[in-house]
Amino acid sequence: MRSRVSILGTGRMGSALARAFLKQGHETSVWNRTKSKCQPLAALGAQVASSVQDAVAAADIIVVNVNDYVTSDALLREDGVTKALHGKLLVQLTSGTPKQAKETAEWAGQNGIQYLDGAIMATPNFIGEPECTILYSGSSDLFEKYKPVLLALGGNALHVGSDVGHASALDSALLVVMWGAMFGMLQGVAICEAEELRLDAYASYLKPILPQVNGWVIDTVKRIEDCRFAGDEATLATVDSHYGALRHLLELCRERGIHQAVPNAFDQLFKAAINAGHAQDDFAVLSKFMREQSPTSPRE
Ligand code: NAP
Repeated sequence: MRSRVSILGTGRMGSALARAFLKQGHETSVWNRTKSKCQPLAALGAQVASSVQDAVAAADIIVVNVNDYVTSDALLREDGVTKALHGKLLVQLTSGTPKQAKETAEWAGQNGIQYLDGAIMATPNFIGEPECTILYSGSSDLFEKYKPVLLALGGNALHVGSDVGHASALDSALLVVMWGAMFGMLQGVAICEAEELRLDAYASYLKPILPQVNGWVIDTVKRIEDCRFAGDEATLATVDSHYGALRHLLELCRERGIHQAVPNAFDQLFKAAINAGHAQDDFAVLSKFMREQSPTSPRE
C-alpha cells in the first residue's frame, strides 16, 4: 500500500525514517529547519517542502521526529499547520514523557487530528530492518489501520496500549536498564584500568556473566509482580549479602580515586532497605524504595 507521508525533522533519526519510507515506495515529503539535511533525501526521491504547512498539506500521514516536544509543539501548534493537520494521522516519534504524549493527544483530539505516539527502540542504522522495534500507543484501531505503512519503519511495530503515554513510559523504563548496564560497565572499566587489568580480558569475563544477569533481571520483575519480597529458597543472595559486596566496591573506588556516583546511588537504596529492616529479604524488596516521596518508608 503506497501512501503519502511527510517527515518533520530530518536529523539523524528523521533521515533514517524518510529513507525507510522511500525504500518501501511511499510518496515521501520532508521538512527540516536546516534545509541542507534534506538534500540527500531529495536525491533519493523525497519532495522537499518549503514550510511545515506545505509538508503537512502534501501527506495523509505526518511523522514528527525532532529533538523534543517543545520544538514539536512550536511547529505543530501554529494556526495554519494545525488546520492542515485536520483529519490526518499525526505520528509523534519524538522522545518525550507520558505527560507530554497525553497533552499532545488531547490537543490533537481538540483539533480533529488522529494521533499515535511512538517510541523508537533502535538507532538510525536499524530503522526499516525486520528486527527494529518501535512502540506505539493510542487507539488500537488507528494503529491497525496504519500498521502496514508503519511497518516500513521497523518490522517489529508493537501496539503497547490505548493509554497514549505508554510508549513513552516504556521508552524510559527500557532505556534505564540499558544505561544501568552501560554505567556499570564504565565503573568496571575504571576498576580494570586502576588495577592494570586488560580490557580485552574484562570483555571476555563479562560475556558469560551477562546472560546470567539478563535471567536475574527478568526473574526479579516476576518476583516483584508476585510480591515475593521475603528471602526464600529461590533467593540467590539477600540484601545484606549484596550490600557486603557493594561495600568492597565503594572501598576500592575510594582507594583508587574512582568516581563514586554510581555505587553511591546503590548504597543509598541498599541503606534505605536495610534501615527499614529488610536485610534478610530478597533483592526484589528494593523495588519498594524507588519512590522519591518516601525513600525510607516502603510502598505497600
Ligand atoms: P538530531 O540528529 O540532533 O536531530 C534533531 C532534529 O530536531 C533535527 O531535525 C533538528 O533540526 C530538529 N530541531 C532541533 N531544534 C529545533 C528547533 N528549534 N526547530 C526546528 N527543528 C529543530 O537528533 P536525532 O538523534 O535524530 O533524534 C531525534 C529524535 O529521535 C529525538 O527525540 C531522539 O530522542 C529520538 N531518538 C533518537 C535515536 C537515535 O539513536 N538517534 C533513537 C531513538 C529515538 P536541525 O537539523 O535544523 O538542527
